[in-house]
Amino acid sequence: MRPVLIRLEDITRTYHVGEVDVDALCGITYQVLQGDFLGIMGPSGSGKSTLMNIIGCLDRPTNGSYFLSNEEVSKFSKRQLAITRNKRIGFVFQSFNLLSRTTALENVELPLLYADIPTKEARELAYKSLELVGLKDRELRKTNQISGGEMQRVAIARALVTNPTLIMADEPTGNLDTKTSIEIMGIFASLNKEKGITVILVTHEADIAAYANRVIHIRDGVIEREDIKRDIRKISKGEVS
Ligand code: ADP
Ligand code: MG
Repeated sequence: MRPVLIRLEDITRTYHVGEVDVDALCGITYQVLQGDFLGIMGPSGSGKSTLMNIIGCLDRPTNGSYFLSNEEVSKFSKRQLAITRNKRIGFVFQSFNLLSRTTALENVELPLLYADIPTKEARELAYKSLELVGLKDRELRKTNQISGGEMQRVAIARALVTNPTLIMADEPTGNLDTKTSIEIMGIFASLNKEKGITVILVTHEADIAAYANRVIHIRDGVIEREDIKRDIRKISKGEVS
């Protein structure tokens, strides 16, 4: 049995906007095992990004507990959250979030330089990470000279370079064409299968969610249902109505 990586217990998150309270999450209880590939689906405004921010240690719940590897991170200070985030979690975004007119290599080195890793070591790790995502020999291309698919590869290499336990991706193929999306999803799938990295990915496309081994559907801040892979395959083959 694989160990539990993430344990969410009755998580809520209320945003205060002027006089108004917005209940973005209304009681999320869920576990993610180490090595899972979790898809999160749901309509716009359902709370997906709010949940990703909490799991990614960018935000804390209003109520409820969040344990990451048995540590209660929902009680952490902002500083402790930042340390946990930098050490253990890699992020990939729909809009890539790369530094403009900067080389692939420099983008990937950056998290290591922030973490005070010596320059030479940072460079070696960045080269390795870029090779893993299929960008060997393209390390010195600048971000304004590469395609969207290559930009997302750079972003994945940057997420990977700190050797995280968990990679979180919010609509990572949202700006990519179908063929490129399949290539990018292949990278996530192989990081999950071959390196055992836990992946959590938000998408609203069923084709993309099909790469996950389990999918939760969120609506109005609660988990509406969960699919496990066996069921998804059957549904896509039309065997389950
Ligand atoms: P999704 O990612 O599924 O589109 P979000 O988590 O972004 O949903 O938003 C969930 C709800 O919380 C929405 O009603 C949204 O308007 C609200 N919300 C999200 N972020 C904030 C914020 N920073 N301040 C106020 N309300 C917010
Ligand atoms: Mg969102």
